[in-house]
Amino acid sequence: PSPAALARAESLIALTPDFPTPGVLFRDVGPMLTDADALADVMQALAAPFEGAFDLVAGVEARGFLFAGALAASARTGLLPIRKAGKTPRPTASVDYALEYGTATIEAAGDLTGRRVLLVDDVLATGGTLVAAAALIEQLGGEVAGVAVVLELVALSGRRRVPSAHAVFTA
Ligand code: AMP
Repeated sequence: PSPAALARAESLIALTPDFPTPGVLFRDVGPMLTDADALADVMQALAAPFEGAFDLVAGVEARGFLFAGALAASARTGLLPIRKAGKTPRPTASVDYALEYGTATIEAAGDLTGRRVLLVDDVLATGGTLVAAAALIEQLGGEVAGVAVVLELVALSGRRRVPSAHAVFTA
C-alpha cells in the first residue's frame, strides 16, 4: 500500500481517553476494521515482511482474533485462536502471565510440530501478551516465524520484550 493509503488507515484508529480505566488512552481499531480499503491495506502491510515464511496465523482473544482471521484468509494459511482460560475443551498448552493488576492464563490445543506461525495482535503495549502467546506456540511444538502488530505504543517499551516485532504503525 502507498504511504498515503497507510496514513489514511492510521487516521481511522480512534483515541479514547480513560478507557477502560482512568489514565489509559485506548486505541480503538474499530473504525479501521469497518473500512474495506483500510483493512485490506493494513493486512497487506502487516504480513509483508513475512511473505512465504509462515503457514499458520495465531491471534490472542479477543481483538487478536480479528487480525489473525483476516490475515489467514488473505494469505491462505491456517488460523490458530489462542483463548483465555476455560474456553478450550482439551487444551494441550497453557501459559500464565502477569497483567497490570493480577494474572491471566491463555490456552490452546493442537500439535504445531513443523508449523511456522505468524503471531499477530492489534496493539503492542507492554508486550506481556505476545511473550505469553509465543511461549504457548512453542509449547505446542510450533516455531514463531514472526510477530506483527498494527500499532506499537513506544512509550510502554514492549519492544524490549519482543525485539523482533514488526509494527505497521507506532505511537
Ligand atoms: P500488553 O501490555 O502488550 O500485553 O497488551 C495487552 C493487550 O491489551 C493487547 O493485546 C492490546 O490489545 C491491549 N491494549 C493494551 N493497551 C492498549 C491501548 N492503549 N489501547 C488499546 N488496546 C490496548
